[in-house]
Amino acid sequence: MKQRKLSILGSTGSIGTQALEIAAYHPEYFDVVALSANSNWQLLADQANRFRPDYLLLCNGANKAAFEERLSYKPKALMYGEQELGGLASIGEADIVLNSLVGFAGFLPTVAALKAGKQVALANKESLVAGGEIIKDLIDGNPGRLIPVDSEHSAMMQCLAGERNERIEKIIITASGGPFRTWTKAQMAGIRVEDALAHPNWSMGDKITIDSSTLMNKGLEIIETYWLYDIPFDKIEPVIHPQSIIHSIVEFVDGSSKAQLGPPDMKVPIIYALTYPDRLPLDTPRVDWAEPVELTFEPVDFERFPCLELAIESGRQGGHAPAIMNAANEVAVERFLKKEIDYIDIAKIVGKSLEKMDRNTDLTIGSLYDVDQETRNLAKLI
Ligand code: MG
Repeated sequence: MKQRKLSILGSTGSIGTQALEIAAYHPEYFDVVALSANSNWQLLADQANRFRPDYLLLCNGANKAAFEERLSYKPKALMYGEQELGGLASIGEADIVLNSLVGFAGFLPTVAALKAGKQVALANKESLVAGGEIIKDLIDGNPGRLIPVDSEHSAMMQCLAGERNERIEKIIITASGGPFRTWTKAQMAGIRVEDALAHPNWSMGDKITIDSSTLMNKGLEIIETYWLYDIPFDKIEPVIHPQSIIHSIVEFVDGSSKAQLGPPDMKVPIIYALTYPDRLPLDTPRVDWAEPVELTFEPVDFERFPCLELAIESGRQGGHAPAIMNAANEVAVERFLKKEIDYIDIAKIVGKSLEKMDRNTDLTIGSLYDVDQETRNLAKLI
């Protein structure tokens, strides 16, 4: 594999730090040329001092002076403010842009990187959920332009290597079920923030951890699947698989199924996206097949996890509905984390926002932003 020049948007988060560990493990294959962080200026400076990228962006510039003081070298460009993310995503030097921003804020950088001809490793699922129609046009049928950094979609992509999408009968997307898989509805009414942040298998950022616990994450992933692989919603089947060893299954028209397996470790989908269509060695845990391995499956309980149905339904409706669902969920999760609302209110806020928002306009980048903002305003008051 030729050396690849890598930009990381959101380098201080869970995906960003793991991607840098991979870059450090394979310095001959990855040259880090740009990093961005939201507000963790200390870690951004430490990462920069280690990898010496030419471009640095700190979105929250409140600690600008201390940040610059901590840098041990002089980058070509130092940028401040979230509005610079699109510019950073399209710098000429980069081959691959890893977008690990959180929420709809990641949408424009994805668009900017694709327009600039970059390969995008996408860990920001919200940009595809809300703006899938626009992003799909930019990819123009070339799956190598946008590679998912999500264990399920990476699994699907690996199962689909050498296959034709039109020969898919269905895709079985696995879900761990999260920390409340076995909780009763009555128990779920009293869920605390600490309970929801304790994911049994995956270590991730706060937003996605809450989304995993409500199964909203699976709903977002079903919409992602629809856009990435052009599969109708009724052919995407979620199933609970508590061990998180099978990351998804593709069933083909001849009755054959392929699954991709491995211990739950985000470094695997990250390195696959960064090396696609090649692979490189990585010292991640392996399944020990000499030991008994239990792989179990259960149906999804849509009644206890109403967010899943809300997400799928918004995906089926299309247009602005997924953007409304996504914005309402972002606000609801934030409010839950701040202990302003109860856990079960997350689904209520999403449902009510979908009912109340008018969505009958043509979909453009501008209209997506308007709808996103209006939904946020509304969801804050429900
Ligand atoms: Mg996932």
